[in-house]
Amino acid sequence: MRILNSYTETGKWWRGSFHNHTTNSDGWFPLETVYKMYGGYDFLGISDHDKITKHEGKREIPTVFDAIEVSSRQTHMLLVSPPLALLDGYSNEFTIANYQRLTDMTIDNGGFAVLVHPNRFFSNYWTLDGMMKMERYIGVEVYNGDGNPEYDIAFDKWDALLSAGRRVWGFGNDDSHVYGQEKRAWNMVQAEANTNEAITEAIKNGNFYVSTGYGFDAIRTEGDTIVVDLRSNALLDKMYKYVTFFGKDGEVLQETTGRISQASYVCRGDEGYVRIAAYLEGGYAAFSQPLFVEDGD
Ligand SMILES: [Zn+2]
Ligand SMILES: [Zn+2]
Repeated sequence: MRILNSYTETGKWWRGSFHNHTTNSDGWFPLETVYKMYGGYDFLGISDHDKITKHEGKREIPTVFDAIEVSSRQTHMLLVSPPLALLDGYSNEFTIANYQRLTDMTIDNGGFAVLVHPNRFFSNYWTLDGMMKMERYIGVEVYNGDGNPEYDIAFDKWDALLSAGRRVWGFGNDDSHVYGQEKRAWNMVQAEANTNEAITEAIKNGNFYVSTGYGFDAIRTEGDTIVVDLRSNALLDKMYKYVTFFGKDGEVLQETTGRISQASYVCRGDEGYVRIAAYLEGGYAAFSQPLFVEDGD
């Protein structure tokens, strides 16, 4: 058995989000205010609808990303670090060919593409069929902080893609437009440095997890066992935790609960993948990337 674990135990954890709006599209706040709303973040992407908002003016966030949310009436797609040339002859028309072309241009520019809020059935959503037809995107927004629990959570579609053999990462972003949507969901990225290059590299490698307030110190393997070191300190260690290990088709492989700081799961070999959701009492959560389990030697 081989377990492919995207988490290294090197570098530091950096906090940030890639999908947020300003008054340059339908956000309520100008860029300057959005920077302030995200004070304390290590990195931030601004992704206005069909526009690349230029980062300018005073800010305390050390690392910022150019981004765009391709926003057809059917589906939305986040492109991080797109080339400016993307805007030449730009169209948000939803065809797989057009979305794929925009994705490919962004990857060629060193960036990445994420299919966002795939379950937002009242407006812009992805069908599984559409997600299967798209290629080369790095991940799916599994937690969108817009504020509709029924529509902004998409672990089902992620499990469906993973179970079909697609190796895509899960993202958490606020998609902040209005007051109160900031700092609901973010990504914790493990990288040697907080630079665009190092953060992007870590994202591409899957060396990050989604957080709504709780976290992992490390996710590692010991032989056939996946060991999850939950974020731990004297206060957190007294609190109750709910840790679930999910496998192919969203099967619950194991649940471990208690006033714990560690949980582990012994792989059988046929799981396909194992991903971990950890909740702290009170509701704060952390969601890992999948570890791929390959049967045989
Ligand atoms: Zn959107
Ligand atoms: Zn958005």
